[in-house]
Amino acid sequence: MVCFCFLVDQTRKVRRFKPVAGSCSRCGHGASVADMRTSTRFCYVPFYWDSWRAVICTFCGAILKSYR
Ligand SMILES: [Zn+2]
Repeated sequence: MVCFCFLVDQTRKVRRFKPVAGSCSRCGHGASVADMRTSTRFCYVPFYWDSWRAVICTFCGAILKSYR
């Protein structure tokens, strides 16, 4: 019997961001609009990328709004 390793993980990266008006609902710090990139890896081999834009808090990492 063949044993597969289902080792899938996702990494989320902020490529660049700039501050926008508004504040985080969790910690109260300033919000930023960010270009995000999510890469999905299977057994440590990246096989899927996804770029999207979101309003995030760079202080606590909360996603306040997603434009996907
Ligand atoms: Zn925050």
